[in-house]
Amino acid sequence: MSDTFYQKLTAVRHYIHQHPEVSENEYETTAYIKEHLRNLGIKPLDYPLPTGVIAEIGHGEPVIALRADIDALPIQEKTNLDYASHNGAMHACGHDFHQTSLLGAAEVLKQKEAELKGTVRLIFQPAEENFQGGHQVIAAGGIEGVSAIVGYHNNPHLKPGQLALRSGAIMAGVEQFKVTVKGVSAHAARPDLGIDTVLVITTIVNNLQSIVSRTVSPFQSAVLSVTHIDVGNTWNVLPAKGFFEGTIRTFDPDIRLSVVDKFTKMVQTTAEQFGADVEIVWGNSPRVTFNDTTITPLIFENSKKFAEVIETLPSTGGEDFAAYQEKIPGVFAFVGSNGEDGAPDWHHDDFIVRDEALPVAVHYFVESALYLLEYYG
Ligand SMILES: [Zn+2]
Ligand SMILES: [Zn+2]
Repeated sequence: MSDTFYQKLTAVRHYIHQHPEVSENEYETTAYIKEHLRNLGIKPLDYPLPTGVIAEIGHGEPVIALRADIDALPIQEKTNLDYASHNGAMHACGHDFHQTSLLGAAEVLKQKEAELKGTVRLIFQPAEENFQGGHQVIAAGGIEGVSAIVGYHNNPHLKPGQLALRSGAIMAGVEQFKVTVKGVSAHAARPDLGIDTVLVITTIVNNLQSIVSRTVSPFQSAVLSVTHIDVGNTWNVLPAKGFFEGTIRTFDPDIRLSVVDKFTKMVQTTAEQFGADVEIVWGNSPRVTFNDTTITPLIFENSKKFAEVIETLPSTGGEDFAAYQEKIPGVFAFVGSNGEDGAPDWHHDDFIVRDEALPVAVHYFVESALYLLEYYG
């Protein structure tokens, strides 16, 4: 990557970083991306998306999609960077970096357009953080005709220059649950006249911890965390109602079904023993980010041209890129973005992506697109 190109992209990222917009409100970001693409001679396509941009380079089949997410988080930035955001939102997941690298890849691919053996579809996806954007793009027809899709997430625990990948599950399937329990209120001194919601909830929460430890094979994995309990408001009244919520993470569809099924039964039967009512509400959350086992090893090898490629363990985080991979083959990598000791994690108010990380991200998009155009051609 030339110095001028690097400086240009760095300035683009700093601008986007300073103007973050939260999920489903990426209007200025969308306008900025469209303008940038038009300046490169790339015309944004007319898909029915309120925010986000889809555009194409090249023509004919096959079609390879490159996806970057564009939304920010409702976090007050505390980085003290000279390009820090002051509008109450923050690119604390580094999606400013993702979209900049896709704009960079677009510029490189546009210059190579005459030699492209097919079409590269650029997907600037809105609303990753609330897990809506992938579904919006799919519903709008954004992956119709696409042979394979490529994406990545920056990883502050890897150094710039590093790229981590694995075949199969690379990020967890996520379940979000909220369980409401209805007992019968009573004076704390006469629990026999009520149904003790506090005891029902705490017993359920205790029982749930036996699911992963006693029913998931030691050679498989799952996480079940109850993170929030809300019940009662004083010392001498047993409350009528309360709730708890939390999340389940799995890497295998069968384990997911089994854990969810046991969770449901455990909640219902425990509540029944006390005569309490329960209601379970599941959130809209992503399935496993599952890297295609045929093309991922090929992209792994191909990426050695421009990065130090590392075989990674899966992450227990979730990612709505999974929505595409349920429909078409996809590859999702981690691109090193910081690597310093104690580098803040994603979603922290002092999260920092280092500028030097950009070249590998741009190369990953460009080289994977070129490789897959050949592969599916
Ligand atoms: Zn995030
Ligand atoms: Zn993210």
